[in-house]
Amino acid sequence: MRALALVADRKLELAELPPPQPPAAGEVQIRVAAVALNHIDVWGWRGMAFAKRKMPLVVGAEAAGTIAATGPDSAFKPGDAVVMYGAMTCGHCRACREGRDNLCENVGGIMGFHLDGFARDLVNMPARLVIPVPAGVAARDAACAPIAFSTVQHMLFDNARLEPGETILVHAGGSGIGTVAIKMAKAIGCTVLTTVGDDAKAERARALGADHVINYRTDRFEGAVRKLTAKKGVDVVFEHVGAETFSGSLLCLKRGGRLVTCGATSGPSTTLNLMQLFQQQYRIIGSFGASMRNIRESLDKMASGMLPVIDTEVSIDDFERGLARLESRQVFGKIVVTL
Ligand SMILES: [Zn+2]
Repeated sequence: MRALALVADRKLELAELPPPQPPAAGEVQIRVAAVALNHIDVWGWRGMAFAKRKMPLVVGAEAAGTIAATGPDSAFKPGDAVVMYGAMTCGHCRACREGRDNLCENVGGIMGFHLDGFARDLVNMPARLVIPVPAGVAARDAACAPIAFSTVQHMLFDNARLEPGETILVHAGGSGIGTVAIKMAKAIGCTVLTTVGDDAKAERARALGADHVINYRTDRFEGAVRKLTAKKGVDVVFEHVGAETFSGSLLCLKRGGRLVTCGATSGPSTTLNLMQLFQQQYRIIGSFGASMRNIRESLDKMASGMLPVIDTEVSIDDFERGLARLESRQVFGKIVVTL
């Protein structure tokens, strides 16, 4: 079978590997159909000194496929469409038992980053980490559920507790998760402000339903948000840009507002004005990953017609080109690799 492995920093190789063993009890074997790219893939590809991992490492952190074979007495059958939870949780700690999978106390690593990932023809998984895809959802769309959709679902609704009628600023509205955040917030009747880096993206963000689009290259977004909200500020900021925007994002919040963040694509460090933090009664919430429930909620949204915006579909030979495109911020939506 084919497998795409990171062999050195910024160096991927497509290799021929022996297929996995037949699945044991409690396991299923999945034929991977599509892998969606995320910033975690870019971080992994660039190399991160602190990440504990061994190369070669099969890449791919979120994916969809079909069941190829099952262990005995499985609830799955060959041909079932599925997605996979990409972190090796223990399944028995308190967080796991309570369905807070992304807070597992014994997590064995993230697939495609610390452990071998999904960019390969066949993969064996514990059946407990495999989630059925509802009928009518295509593999390329379902592939965006385990990270992109579910991360946003978790950020907006579990963490920021976004309510209908509230106002939200979504940073980088053309990014994979930015496009999802615009759709999810509009779907419950929020007013959505978003930032983009060029006018073509502005048009596309408006087409997704964003009420106000700010070109952050020509306009300071903090000032634009104040103007657009009649100096009140927004209820929620959806952050993932990091160093370049974080201080400005806090200035966009109304008193008691919530900032939820899941990324730092422009850099990990910032300064924080503590007076501002407590006087304005801001809530800053870190969010990483999602629960299995969030993935099911995401797939249900897809089945009801909320589909991911796909920027490009590339073949497995072009995985690296996809990463370069993602790194250069030239995307609008998700890059999906088909196998
Ligand atoms: Zn656990």
